[in-house]
Amino acid sequence: MTTVDTHCPYCALQCGIRLGQKGSGRITLAPRDFPTNRGGLCQKGWTAAELLTAADRITTPLVRDATGELVEASWDDAYARIVAAVRSAQGAAGPDAVAVFGGGGLTNEKAYTLGKFARVALGTSRIDYNGRFCMSSAAAAVNRAFGLDRGLPFPLTDLAGADAVLLVGSNLSETMPPAVQHLSGVRSRGGLIVVDPRRTATAALTESDGGIHLQPVPGTDIAVLLGLLHLVTLAGDTDDAYLTRRVSGWDAVRAAVTMWWPERVERATGVPVGELRAAATLLAGASPSAGGAGAYVLTGRGAEQHAHGTDTVTAAINLALALGLPGRVGSGYGCITGQGNGQGGREHGQKADQLPGYRSITDPAARAHVAEVWGVSESSIPGPGLPAVQLLDAIGQPDGPRVLFVHGANPVVSAPDSDKVARKLAQLELLVVADFVPSETARLADVVLPVPQWAEEEGTMTSLEGRVLRRRRVIQPPEGVRDELRIWHELAQLLHIPVQFAATPVEVLEELARASTGGIADYTGVDVARLDAGEGLHWPCPQVGHPGTPRLFLDRFDTADGRARMVCVDTSPVDDDVRPDAPIYLITGRILQHYQSGAQTRRVPELLRGEAGPFVQLHPVLAARLGIEEGDCVRVTSTRGSASGMARLSADIRRDTVFMPFHFPGQGAANAVTNPATDPVSGMPEFKVCAVRVSREWVS
Ligand code: SF4
Repeated sequence: MTTVDTHCPYCALQCGIRLGQKGSGRITLAPRDFPTNRGGLCQKGWTAAELLTAADRITTPLVRDATGELVEASWDDAYARIVAAVRSAQGAAGPDAVAVFGGGGLTNEKAYTLGKFARVALGTSRIDYNGRFCMSSAAAAVNRAFGLDRGLPFPLTDLAGADAVLLVGSNLSETMPPAVQHLSGVRSRGGLIVVDPRRTATAALTESDGGIHLQPVPGTDIAVLLGLLHLVTLAGDTDDAYLTRRVSGWDAVRAAVTMWWPERVERATGVPVGELRAAATLLAGASPSAGGAGAYVLTGRGAEQHAHGTDTVTAAINLALALGLPGRVGSGYGCITGQGNGQGGREHGQKADQLPGYRSITDPAARAHVAEVWGVSESSIPGPGLPAVQLLDAIGQPDGPRVLFVHGANPVVSAPDSDKVARKLAQLELLVVADFVPSETARLADVVLPVPQWAEEEGTMTSLEGRVLRRRRVIQPPEGVRDELRIWHELAQLLHIPVQFAATPVEVLEELARASTGGIADYTGVDVARLDAGEGLHWPCPQVGHPGTPRLFLDRFDTADGRARMVCVDTSPVDDDVRPDAPIYLITGRILQHYQSGAQTRRVPELLRGEAGPFVQLHPVLAARLGIEEGDCVRVTSTRGSASGMARLSADIRRDTVFMPFHFPGQGAANAVTNPATDPVSGMPEFKVCAVRVSREWVS
């Protein structure tokens, strides 16, 4: 039996697994002891090997023929189509006529090379990725406050010693079950506070432990956070010595928060004053300045996926700073990253406004450094492009993209207002999709390029802790499949680009490390041999031999004066609020069995048996009012579109709100309903508050 230690292909927890194979037999999978999962795996992880035998695996390029069908083609034919379309589009409308849409599941090496391919080989500014939909608002808020964005600036295991954890908009029990073990200490002390409009599995755990569940109106978590800060301030529980020494902006924030007295917060959010006071007391009592063992404020997509997501996260950070938590061992603020390489995906140049090393694309010094590594002139690197929603929306406009490359993403299911996205893609002169299965986006493509999947590739990933890890190849990909690094290398040659595109992950990591030197996400000291020798390295790792940096900000924040920046937040009403013709809130999210657009997990029979299709969770009182019974088919409609699913009645959700998982396409596509309004700072769409009407479609 040959065994290989690697990591789960799905979420940012990157649980450690061991894959085994006897001869050419079936791949076996078992959890292994790794700091984030300590031998635990969720159902998705346990069944991940089944993906390797997906029945509809793509093993040859596909091109759309004259009849409109996708038919098998040679690699030469597929490349010829692509090169001709790129030349034609750019000849007619300039470099930005070609755009690139990446993914937070690509390895660091692929994320880096995709950014370089877009800017050097295609010469386009128009590159962005699906991480824009995931946690871009947290990234923007953290950068604004601390000058450096790493999801968790401390190891996950640090949570164990805290007396309180405030978890805003994260259902860890379903999205990352092995992570819940790190909350066992705080749970045993009754210190977990969950903010969620649903009584999720995580909220239920909290209640059973004597913790607190605050259940606000969707979109009002920002008011809950302001109310908590108001109470902490009023009670004199702020860490004034810390605020004086380590924070700027406190005076303005303190003055602004007086507007959020508890009764006002109760009116705005529906959270009773007593519960708000209990949460503030619990959190403040756990903070070190009050003699507690420590406290954390953590946010997830529920807090972040808003058109005011950056300010909601900023309100969470302000609360943590007022209590003196960030930059202290045993306390802090962190964001629970979602996608497997959501962290690394945004560090190496896939984002519209960033270059490798998490550098700003408008910073002349950063541009000069990266240009030298790439062997191009600084002036040849395009400026900032468009964030994901705007990039997709520009298709069909006179100066919009005419050719689009999609790598590691399925925007037809994952983007807001998804039916419109599908209509936009149909207007392209050429849509190129690289994937290993026919995702909903691949089915619309003009050229489909078959690529390896997780256990067939080598590279590195960066987990939610900023820990760089090895993804190891266990089996060779099927014949006919080509690695993306090779594809970009070959396309660059066919486009006659006089710049080297490394085609092996080791070469790319070495180049990536050089490109990151001196940047925020500094990988200079990261190499394969060091990763192989241990359990990964936390960036920044600025020199060869550097031990990595598990905990950030202990002495100073990454700002010019070393202080964290508090910023006053905008509390304008949500973009698409309920009204007589759309009187109910729709919120969306993940469920235990599925991941992201479901393109992978819907191909795993065991997961599909666990949850086969879309559902609409609604309160029995709301259901009775609408004449809906358990199992009826329910239609949820907004001004953008509609989706349907089986009614699932539950008292765990507010009476003014329905919930749908976003993993399903077609009639059950929750994102056909969601709102593409975006956060002005981060470009994050408003996934989490959507005014809808709900009706019974047919009876079960
Ligand atoms: Fe995989 Fe995430 Fe589940 Fe761990 S928690 S097994 S990384 S999906």
